[in-house]
Amino acid sequence: MKRILITGAAGFLGSHLCDLFIDKGYRVIGMDNLITGDLKNIQHLFPLEQFEFYNHDVSKFVFVPGEVDYILHFASPASPIDYLKIPIQTLKVGSLGTHNLLGLAKVKKARILVASTSEVYGDPLVHPQNEEYYGNVNPIGPRGVYDEAKRFQEALTMAYNRYHDLETRIVRIFNTYGPRMRLNDGRVIPAFIGQTLRGEDLTVFGDGSQTRSFCYVEDLMDGIYRLLMSDYYLPMNIGNPNEITIKDFAEEIIKLTGTSQKIIYKPLPENDPLQRQPDITKAKEILGWEPKTNRSNGIGITYDYFKSLSDQELRKSEHKSFENFIRP
Ligand code: UDP
Repeated sequence: MKRILITGAAGFLGSHLCDLFIDKGYRVIGMDNLITGDLKNIQHLFPLEQFEFYNHDVSKFVFVPGEVDYILHFASPASPIDYLKIPIQTLKVGSLGTHNLLGLAKVKKARILVASTSEVYGDPLVHPQNEEYYGNVNPIGPRGVYDEAKRFQEALTMAYNRYHDLETRIVRIFNTYGPRMRLNDGRVIPAFIGQTLRGEDLTVFGDGSQTRSFCYVEDLMDGIYRLLMSDYYLPMNIGNPNEITIKDFAEEIIKLTGTSQKIIYKPLPENDPLQRQPDITKAKEILGWEPKTNRSNGIGITYDYFKSLSDQELRKSEHKSFENFIRP
């Protein structure tokens, strides 16, 4: 049985990865410091003999006993509200955390895949974004702590690949959604669905003409698995190219959920990218991958998940506005 270490195991993506690799017959070591993750996402795995869990901050020295075949580094705050609240931890987990895990991979002779992001492209001047584009990032803006940590992570990972011959993979993840997202993480999908469930109006930031392209989590998992098992070591985009403006998306949510809420407009957060759409030519050609879930099905499943949460969780999740977190 192969053994895989998954950091950020109690988070949205990490917990789905734990499920995937348990299903595929691996021994899974989950690691998380639970700053943004939640044990309820993986509580169903604790009774399994092939699952173990460490409550640990990977920004500090990481060690696990025994053999490790693969490492997936998914520990990081990943929503703008989170990294505005905990900017230093965000910088540390992408830089020091990545360094610790690359070091562990070297010692264990493990293959490591790191979670990068479409944020490395910043507010892109090339559309759709292909992997050759270097990006347009403001290092000192509110998103800089995340974007630059992830850009440093990519540089460090490539250095370990080139100078230590380490087997590395880099996935650039575009906006992804599905069950186990946090209702109060500020991202647009939990925000809009939470608002419909609480009977509030939907808050569109700016005039809503900015675009995003949303990928259902199951499709992302399949792409990550294929990339890990491939020979491809350069960064690879994984996302759904189906692009929509945020205003149209708000209208779509109102229609899909059959609610009667209105749209209200709030100021656009600083450095909010105006457009985002992955070019997935490489993933198609090299991995034979493309997303299969259309938005209405994916949103339907996600809506049912949020609806199943208790009223208490729903109330707790009241949408916070960005202005509360930004210091000039
Ligand atoms: N957004 C919005 N209303 C909300 C939350 C987000 O209009 O209540 C917008 C946000 O400004 C951005 C887009 O939705 O343009 C996607 O935001 P999200 O935080 O989900 O992801 P990211 O900006 O990192 O792609």
